[in-house]
Amino acid sequence: TQFTDLGLAKPLLKALADEGYVTPTPIQAQAIPGVMTGRDLLGIAQTGTGKTAAFALPLLHRIANDRKPAPRRGCRVLVLSPTRELATQIAESFKTYGAHLGVSVAVVFGGVKYGPQMRALAGGVDVLVATPGRLIDHLQEKSITLQGVETFVLDEADQMLDMGFIVPIRRIVKQLPRMRQNLFFSATMPSEIESLAAELLNPNPLKVS
Ligand code: AMP
Repeated sequence: TQFTDLGLAKPLLKALADEGYVTPTPIQAQAIPGVMTGRDLLGIAQTGTGKTAAFALPLLHRIANDRKPAPRRGCRVLVLSPTRELATQIAESFKTYGAHLGVSVAVVFGGVKYGPQMRALAGGVDVLVATPGRLIDHLQEKSITLQGVETFVLDEADQMLDMGFIVPIRRIVKQLPRMRQNLFFSATMPSEIESLAAELLNPNPLKVS
């Protein structure tokens, strides 16, 4: 399989060609077709497997095929990441793959001022990548709303558990619309992560590893 066989929108194929990507990694080949059609996903995958593109490409494809304004102070895709470094990398990947789509991407993490993050979010963005603690702060301040979220991505769930983020994640999920697509990634599946996945995901998710 090559990227050109997956039915991705032309601007995405152009961005992949710019990057010199020709062949999807195994997790990309398994995940992209299902995620494109709106299915939930449970992915057992480590960093380095190409998992970022495995979720970013099909989600950008959905945005490309359903253009609409992002909700004010909100986003259409919410990605939760355990660290600011990973959050920044994920946001950069969305920008790279979405370069020919005109997609708006914002990133929110702790340890920096609130003002610039609030201004970046004010008009709404297609994709928001956030760490859990700072996102909770913004939700309390009402500088971010999660009402318009269409897809929720939880990355590195097992690392989230190790960092004590499970309670904040449950608080965030309570504010998401009931009807949504969920993508759940973890390198390992301890029982606490398995039950979190069962709680979050719609029945019968696509499973890839
Ligand atoms: P990730 O697992 O998402 O952190 O990606 C690992 C690295 O592989 C990143 O630097 C990507 O830019 C690169 N990459 C992802 N998918 C592909 C692909 N299909 N072909 C070539 N490089 C890729």
